Amino acid sequence: MKPYLFCPVCGEKLDRAIIDGRGRNVCLACSWVHYINPLPVAIAVAVNRNDELLLVRRAHAPAFNEWSLPGGFVETGETAEEGCLRELMEETSLEGTIDSLIGIYHREVEPYGSLLVLAYRVVVADDAIAVNHELFEAGFYPEHLIPEVRIPLHWEIIRDAALYDLVQ
Ligand SMILES: [Zn+2]
Repeated sequence: MKPYLFCPVCGEKLDRAIIDGRGRNVCLACSWVHYINPLPVAIAVAVNRNDELLLVRRAHAPAFNEWSLPGGFVETGETAEEGCLRELMEETSLEGTIDSLIGIYHREVEPYGSLLVLAYRVVVADDAIAVNHELFEAGFYPEHLIPEVRIPLHWEIIRDAALYDLVQ
């Protein structure tokens, strides 16, 4: 993540200072401090009635053309659960319901910086998929047919979801 050079409040050049034990960019003119916090991401481990897992093939960076779980950034004003279901709906037109929290994860990903990732098990009743521009394809897969998921975090989440007897 690129650091700010100028204060977004008053436009003065930022200085560097130790605040609350960390080096941070600070505006000496108006006292604005650039606290950098992780961005929240919600990811769906979505299954249909046959316990088949929804995987999507990404049509954008990062991880272009890789198989992954659907998900995205939580927006201001929505809960992580709402963000999870909204992203699922936007990407695949699938309506899901939250079943349980699988886990909370931390990753450093350029260009975003720290990510706080919340992964939910989601149940989908009607599994008719229509993908949007963010994806090449999406489908529900039984254990013996799942495509190779090479994004380490997504594989970790699938394993933690304990849908399948996965080893890696
Ligand atoms: Zn300022």
